[in-house]
Amino acid sequence: MGYGCKRCGRCCDPVVLSYLKKDFRSYFTEEDARFTERHFHRVSRDYAAQRLGLDWVSTWRGAYWYRCDCFDYVTRTCRCYDKRPGFCRRFPLCHIISDPGPYANALYPDCGFDGLTADGILAALGGEQ
Ligand code: SF4
Ligand code: SF4
Repeated sequence: MGYGCKRCGRCCDPVVLSYLKKDFRSYFTEEDARFTERHFHRVSRDYAAQRLGLDWVSTWRGAYWYRCDCFDYVTRTCRCYDKRPGFCRRFPLCHIISDPGPYANALYPDCGFDGLTADGILAALGGEQ
């Protein structure tokens, strides 16, 4: 089977970031910061563990979890797809090359990009960016 997004929705439910909301403007473009400040809402690690499993969530020490109100929990798709932030468009490339920290290369459970290098992910993303 080929690589690519399986539309499982896990990377949106919830979103994991290395930053607190107050610091979004230091790391994101102005446009992405405005979007995330409006649509991302901090949730607890326990909430993330309920959604994704404690074993996986436990590996993310010092990470922050967010519920995105653009996520449709019924269809498990993005209701803001055309306006989604740059890091959503580039996911999971951001986890592979933009994050120099301990979470680089960490993908969500069963992500369809698992096993690819940065170049492979770039190719698999194709024109979707
Ligand atoms: S976790 Fe991976 S396979 Fe699932 S929606 Fe996100 S990018 Fe696609
Ligand atoms: S904006 Fe869309 S793609 Fe990005 S986290 Fe929210 S639901 Fe997911």
